[in-house]
Amino acid sequence: MSDVQYAEPDNLAGVFDALERYGEEARLLAGGTGLVNLMKQRLVQPGALIGLRRIEALRGVSRQDGALRLGAMATHREVETSEVVRAAAPLLAETYRQVATVRIRNVATVGGGLAHADPSQDPPVALVVLRARVVLTSKDGTREIPIEEFFTDYYETAIAPDEVLTQVLVPPQPAQAGAVYLKFLPRTADDYATVAVAALVELAADGETCRDARIALGAVGSTVLQATAAAAALRGQRPTPEALREAAEQVRALVDPVDDYRGSAAYKRDMAVVFTRRALEQALARARDGAR
Ligand SMILES: Cc1cc2nc3c(=O)[nH]c(=O)nc-3n(C[C@H](O)[C@H](O)[C@H](O)COP(=O)(O)OP(=O)(O)OC[C@H]3O[C@@H](n4cnc5c(N)ncnc54)[C@H](O)[C@@H]3O)c2cc1C
Repeated sequence: MSDVQYAEPDNLAGVFDALERYGEEARLLAGGTGLVNLMKQRLVQPGALIGLRRIEALRGVSRQDGALRLGAMATHREVETSEVVRAAAPLLAETYRQVATVRIRNVATVGGGLAHADPSQDPPVALVVLRARVVLTSKDGTREIPIEEFFTDYYETAIAPDEVLTQVLVPPQPAQAGAVYLKFLPRTADDYATVAVAALVELAADGETCRDARIALGAVGSTVLQATAAAAALRGQRPTPEALREAAEQVRALVDPVDDYRGSAAYKRDMAVVFTRRALEQALARARDGAR
């Protein structure tokens, strides 16, 4: 790591200049919790690091035109503890709280976490269920993409080499909906998930019919997976225990886990079904209680 150049601009124009100057050699540095580990393992060997911590425009969590705006350099801990987030999208605060340890959450950032794109990470699962949008900026302008199009493969994203992830926009949770994030951790409390599920269930005005259901899973594929068939099976139906069980069963064919030290593929497939059912049950209970 001795020959790495380091730049730390205080505005985005400086970042774009540095990206151009260092070209393919460059990597952006946010909290460093993911990138520095990869560098230590020599899986990534950048010639230049461009630090983002001095850029005010990338900071903070706020409401913007009705949506939540998470600045790319907002830390996981900021999202977890933000009253603005808890009011608009409690699922998000609940999910960020389950990432690793408080030491990691104090340093790891929203943008760095998404750009890292490890399919076992927690926040992407909830952000897919909440229909978040990712804002990518280059010196030529800004584009906004749905988060499910952002993750393209294992550790791969739609970020172009000249782009910076600048913010994430999250619509508020619907008022009649309950949502939950379940992280299955059979080993230690600060591990990555063996299987993770986020579910949102919205009830119609009659309080008995499911108006909308959304389900996403982490750690069981090369990117976060949306269980669209399972969710569609519940829309317009009465969410009876049997209906939830049948919907959850549909994720068995969707997931594509690998054998590793967190469990065999067959075990993870079974757990994906179990945790989807539990997530749907808990989201429905919250919707009925008005607990969100
Ligand atoms: C021991 C440990 C346990 C962990 N456990 C979990 C866990 O259980 N669940 C979980 O979800 N996460 C977990 N994490 C955190 C996670 O995996 C990443 O390390 C973290 O989210 C990366 O954030 P960062 O700000 O440190 O990014 P960095 O490490 O600084 O950067 C990560 C990548 O993103 C790029 N990047 C950074 N910012 C931007 C930007 N604004 N625009 C474009 N590209 C950018 C970098 O170039 C790099 O490629 C854990 C981390 C550690 C070290």
